[in-house]
Amino acid sequence: VSATRRLKPGDTIGILGGGQLARMLAIAAAPLGLRCQIYAPAGDNPAFDVAAARTIAAYDDAGALARFGQTVDLITYEFENVPDATVALLASSGAPVRPGVMALRISQDRALEKAFLAEHGVAVAPWTPIDDVAALTAALADPVFARAILKTRRFGYDGKGQLRLRAGENATHAFAAIGRAPAVLEAMVDFRTEISIVAARGLDGAFAAFDATENRHDGGILARSTAPAAVTPRTAEAAAGIARRIAEAFQYVGVLAVEFFVVGEGADERLLVNEIAPRVHNSGHWTIEGAETSQFAQAIRAIAGWPLGPTGRRAATVTMDNLIGDAIAAWPAIVVEPGAHLHHYGKAEARPGRKMGHVTRLKA
Ligand code: AMP
Repeated sequence: VSATRRLKPGDTIGILGGGQLARMLAIAAAPLGLRCQIYAPAGDNPAFDVAAARTIAAYDDAGALARFGQTVDLITYEFENVPDATVALLASSGAPVRPGVMALRISQDRALEKAFLAEHGVAVAPWTPIDDVAALTAALADPVFARAILKTRRFGYDGKGQLRLRAGENATHAFAAIGRAPAVLEAMVDFRTEISIVAARGLDGAFAAFDATENRHDGGILARSTAPAAVTPRTAEAAAGIARRIAEAFQYVGVLAVEFFVVGEGADERLLVNEIAPRVHNSGHWTIEGAETSQFAQAIRAIAGWPLGPTGRRAATVTMDNLIGDAIAAWPAIVVEPGAHLHHYGKAEARPGRKMGHVTRLKA
């Protein structure tokens, strides 16, 4: 029953996580008549302001999770770093978990993710697992890793848990710097640009992708997304095809994002997958005003078992700029700028590197 359950207006979606993604999911659920109950530990939870109900509890509170699973009609999550034990508890709580537990388990571990991609014929940058200093020392002697990036297998985001390395680097120091946690070493990719595909797969197996989006990062954090991406039509199609292959392999239900490095130019353009996010994604925020269905409404439709919405773009070009840290102070100018759409996440404190909001601009 739970595998095929469809929600109806009045039903409640339980969302693990109380950040801006949960906030925008709850806002998108409202016009469809669906309620959201947010599960998050105490703290600054911007989703609480817009949701019908909240559970304030730790992610490892077995009792609270079990009650949550009995209260809501469906469970989803806004971030992939949900602890394993939490996932197992939720899966046995009776309410369906969408996207499913397999996508969550694989995408929260960089080594499992890369192995999964290889199994499905998807190219990634050269990499090797690193479990100790000896493995790192050996890998750094390989010319493939002359310029490399060491990333913890789990719990990394926005460039956290990462360290760039060069040949001759002290492996002991480097491994200590990422907390001696299980990691992967990746060759640095000389990419021309980065793109992502945000796409949805429905309960009925239907698939729909938004336009490929070009992403510029600053210090490992997304700074600007532009849709459509300036890549060849063949590359854009190949990227959507890879996202579809991944979604099908996971028997995925919901919205997912796939981030790519684009190497080379013109007829030589090639794609390498950087990572998969089993959720709505920062590089899809432009769809709120810029596409016929927003990624958030699409995610709600998909997990609710409803038909997917159309994904066409509403303007020739759409840009989305993140407002990070103090950049949020520009909001008074943005609200008077014609054609600019402000999204202020309502967070209490503008710490450096913290995503405080974003602004979307449509250009005819
Ligand atoms: P990640 O957290 O893995 O998405 O990394 C954040 C950003 O760091 C990426 O979007 C890239 O801009 C950069 N980066 C990560 N891995 C690599 C790599 N192997 N080669 C070059 N740049 C990378």
